[in-house]
Amino acid sequence: MPGENCAIVGCGICRNQNKYGLFKIPPLTKPEWRQNFLAQILKGRIVDEKFSKKIESSKVWVCEKHYEPDALYHYATRKVPKEDAIPTLNLPGMSNKTYVPRPINSIVKREQNHQPANIPSTSIKTFSIYTYRQFLQNASMSINNNWQYSLLDQSSTFRLFDSRFQVPKFDLVVDCHLKVTLRVFGWFSTCPFSIMSMPINTILTKLETMNLCVGISN
Ligand SMILES: [Zn+2]
Repeated sequence: MPGENCAIVGCGICRNQNKYGLFKIPPLTKPEWRQNFLAQILKGRIVDEKFSKKIESSKVWVCEKHYEPDALYHYATRKVPKEDAIPTLNLPGMSNKTYVPRPINSIVKREQNHQPANIPSTSIKTFSIYTYRQFLQNASMSINNNWQYSLLDQSSTFRLFDSRFQVPKFDLVVDCHLKVTLRVFGWFSTCPFSIMSMPINTILTKLETMNLCVGISN
């Protein structure tokens, strides 16, 4: 049946090969599970209009080949993913090994990305955002309280002030198409971080700790 193929790029399993179970995208009522699931299945895939419509209407399936056996309930006639289980196996462009830490000298500058040890490895591989709604969800979870911010339907604004100046040191606007505008002391600048692959709170913290060029002295 059209649409009932495994959504993982490069996997050809479809509904009528009933050797493998196909599992539907987690429901909208489980936003976090759904977002983690999407982050996995969108690896290596360009999301065109057709596929975003499938996501919106929850017509996305993934076959059991992408789940660890212990992520599934095994019933006599079928398998069902456990709550919060996401596809982690046979994904495009990645090995199926669990998370391997980098050598210490390459992570010195990455302390903001440091993951506490009690988070299961399946949930720390990626962070991805594809829609403004997901962005709002992420932004509503936590924002560094040095920043003033507003989260609105059409755009969200994040400002950091330096008490010596009237204009904000940083003024970051994310619109509903995920377009980012950054101004530094009123000057347009390019945001060096992608809001699609990094939590907004991490970006704000990174901006805050960046050293700005002080300019040329006389
Ligand atoms: Zn598959």
